[in-house]
Amino acid sequence: MQRWQPAYIGLGSNLDDPSGQVRAAWERLTELPATRAILRSPLYRSRPFGPVPQPDFVNAVAGLLTRLAPEALLAELQALEASLGRHREGPRWGPRRIDLDLLIQGRERREGPGLTLPHAGIVERNFVLYPLADIAPDLDVPGLGRVGELKARLAPEGLWRIEPEP
Ligand code: ATP
Ligand code: CA
Ligand code: CA
Repeated sequence: MQRWQPAYIGLGSNLDDPSGQVRAAWERLTELPATRAILRSPLYRSRPFGPVPQPDFVNAVAGLLTRLAPEALLAELQALEASLGRHREGPRWGPRRIDLDLLIQGRERREGPGLTLPHAGIVERNFVLYPLADIAPDLDVPGLGRVGELKARLAPEGLWRIEPEP
């Protein structure tokens, strides 16, 4: 078992009551082993990117403290996706009931087929950076810079907050 580290999870859904799916996934994050779920951003609605026509997404970011290694945390997230009814057969970036991305964990860096840390999509995704800035504006993303500064480079185009800030 490692030391405690902060970890940030990107949650997304665009099938079968997306807001309900994201809230349910957050509840399940509170039950992960060796982990405390600390904060959840407000929910956002986002227009999908990529080639597949599909419904809007609901997104949020969760802040955890965990003693799991990044690989173990990702395995837990993938098991959670499966138990929430995500099927893996669809196209990448296609519609899905739940998507849980490990965005950042402490100062950890990875470049592998199974795990890239920080997550490769962070800098160009407003639906990641806006909710992340709600809960961790001063966080320094390893190799990329502060969340608030990364967010300031991205317009909130196609992005709407659908829950009040707590
Ligand atoms: P994107 O990763 O661009 O957001 P996606 O979430 O649609 O796309 P998935 O089909 O959910 O992609 O995952 C594809 C693979 O990405 C997974 O098999 C997983 O091993 C890998 N992966 C690499 N780094 C990460 C990470 N930081 N968090 C989650 N999955 C990751
Ligand atoms: Ca994703
Ligand atoms: Ca994913």
